[in-house]
Amino acid sequence: MAIRKILQLGDETLRKKSFTVNEINEKTIQLLDDMKDTLDKAQGAGLAAVQVGVLRRIFIVDVDEGFFEFINPEIISTSGEQYGIEGCLSVKGKWGDVKRPYKVTIKAQNRKGEYFTITAKDFFAKAICHEYDHLEGIVYVDKADNLRSEQ
Ligand code: ZN
Repeated sequence: MAIRKILQLGDETLRKKSFTVNEINEKTIQLLDDMKDTLDKAQGAGLAAVQVGVLRRIFIVDVDEGFFEFINPEIISTSGEQYGIEGCLSVKGKWGDVKRPYKVTIKAQNRKGEYFTITAKDFFAKAICHEYDHLEGIVYVDKADNLRSEQ
């Protein structure tokens, strides 16, 4: 278990597309554990592997509904709309307003390699969409209005 360094906007790795995880091995588990420690310390709602410099399709989300690990996630469907404030651990001290789906259904693998499907709404859906974007090299500032330094 260890805290990893979170890359900041301007680091070109954040703009790269993450690769599929072909095998969930000890290194993957270590990465997931480290990501959780890193997220806990930073007190964030989510973290993608690329944010700690690992270009793999993995992210974690820690919200009221619980703590979730997503490996090789696929967004199955989205519906509705929400618009509201977002921040990112890779864009320290900034916030902006982003339009997201209100509801999202996502399929992914857990650390045992088992597939699961979950439907999230509201803030949970927002967090999933934000983290999923990271896997595509998208940072929320690309989509945000009113980017500002005050929450
Ligand atoms: Zn982010």
